[in-house]
Parts: sequence; structure tokens; C-alpha cells
Amino acid sequence: MDALMLDGNAAAGLLQEIFGSEMTTAVGTCDGCGTAGEVGGVRLYRGAGLAFRCPHCGDVLMKIVVAGERVWIDFRGLRTLQLNG
Ligand SMILES: [Zn+2]
Repeated sequence: MDALMLDGNAAAGLLQEIFGSEMTTAVGTCDGCGTAGEVGGVRLYRGAGLAFRCPHCGDVLMKIVVAGERVWIDFRGLRTLQLNG
């Protein structure tokens, strides 16, 4: 089955749990193309884990895998992440 495509808002609850603050309004900058945008507006693919993709170039910005009590986060595709209080 193909991964289901959503937007970053669909992961709001999980992100809040992990980071302890509202993340959908945080602004990430794509390392691939340099586009900055709110986390809530990125493309979210749900497969074995969550893959957040740049809506501009399609590169993976961030991956999150949750297994029981453990969470793995891959930030490789994010140049910066700006948290807004
Ligand atoms: Zn990009």
C-alpha cells in the first residue's frame, strides 16, 4: 500500500508530545532548496514512520519513527528549525 499523504498539521499532536511546544507554526528551512515554511504546511507521508517532505522540492526534511516508548528523529534534511515561543 502506498504511504498516505497528509500535511504537517496531521502530526501536530505527536510533535507537541516530542518537542513540548507547538510545532506546526515552527519554521523549517529545507536543506535541499532553501525554502522556509511552517511545519504545518509540509507534506507528510505516513508509512513505517512519518516522513516530512518539502512542499517545494520534495526532499525529506525530517523523519520520525515511533516504536513503543522510543522515538527516532532524523533531521538531516532541515537546515534550520525556528521555534516561535
Ligand atoms: Zn526543498
